[in-house]
Amino acid sequence: MEIKIKALTPIWTGGVEGKPDRLHTTSIIGSMRWWYEVVVRGLGGYACDPSSEKRCELSGKEKTREERLAKLCPACYLFGCGGWKRRFRLEVQSNTSVPFQLATLESKNKFNHWWLSQIFEDSRGTNLPFGEISLSLNGDDDVIDQVKALLSIMVNIGGIGAKTQYGYGQFDWDDKIELKNAINTIRQFLSGNIFKSGSNKDKWYSLTNFWYYKLSITSDNGLVNKFKNANLIGNGNMPSDYLPVSFDIRYKMPSSGDGTGLRSAYYSFCRHSMSKEDAKQKTRSLFGTLENDKIGSRIFVSHLFRRRNIDNNHHLKVWGFTDDSVGKVVGDELKNIFGLDKPPSIVTGKELINYSRGEVQ
Ligand SMILES: [Zn+2]
Repeated sequence: MEIKIKALTPIWTGGVEGKPDRLHTTSIIGSMRWWYEVVVRGLGGYACDPSSEKRCELSGKEKTREERLAKLCPACYLFGCGGWKRRFRLEVQSNTSVPFQLATLESKNKFNHWWLSQIFEDSRGTNLPFGEISLSLNGDDDVIDQVKALLSIMVNIGGIGAKTQYGYGQFDWDDKIELKNAINTIRQFLSGNIFKSGSNKDKWYSLTNFWYYKLSITSDNGLVNKFKNANLIGNGNMPSDYLPVSFDIRYKMPSSGDGTGLRSAYYSFCRHSMSKEDAKQKTRSLFGTLENDKIGSRIFVSHLFRRRNIDNNHHLKVWGFTDDSVGKVVGDELKNIFGLDKPPSIVTGKELINYSRGEVQ
């Protein structure tokens, strides 16, 4: 089947030495697997860490479907592992691309500008997929249903491809399934098969430690208008379909009375009850480190993007894999940054799980 999605912010799929060059299907599939693990764990299933030695593997001696399933977690069943092939074929095609661009309110030689220029130095002059993207999907019906449910969840509460914490990979899909039904489709698949059992580690990404915000910000917002004139890193003019300013929001706003940015706000919050060193460590463990990707980010911030088929607003999605109290700090700071009347409403993964439980489709 043919799935047509629309990238609302550029999609990052990596390439040679991490440089974006073309749309890499492996990166799209990697992000899909990552989200499938999140949902499986959230629904009480086991999903192995595919980078660990305890990942699933088949020896080839298994004789029956039952024997194979008993050695596969649902994610490995669907996406494959040693001795077992992925259950679906996917070809991804993009016809439109846009130049690599990031923007910050900080001027040249100030930290944000300097850091973005350094870290994305190799990306200047490259192009990233944007706009209509077609996914050609082949597999058995029950597998296709899982993939459709999964994409529907990603479109709703996350993103696709790599570097979604830096604003990339927001997309829309006209035929997406309602979130509740999508979660239930995966729930039913898990309860209808006996997969490998195991225990998920607490720190693993899961819907049980998940929350998100969706903001729709009107075009007269002062900060949005400032961002329209932010300093660009990369070629060309500021795009009109999105403002690539995730970094300022997520990391640190230049001091201008617009709030301090999520990372800075969280650090200040920690300092109420912790030493400098502890607050630093705690902040790093959630936002990752700038120097390398050894500590994965647990807080994700989209760029500001438009949904022209719906309204003239700028949209922002922020999500995290932490306990809800961190989400609360993030919501309060989003209010500060954008000068909102009240914090946006948080939706938690636990609510999603309960809300979809037992509902008849
Ligand atoms: Zn597995």
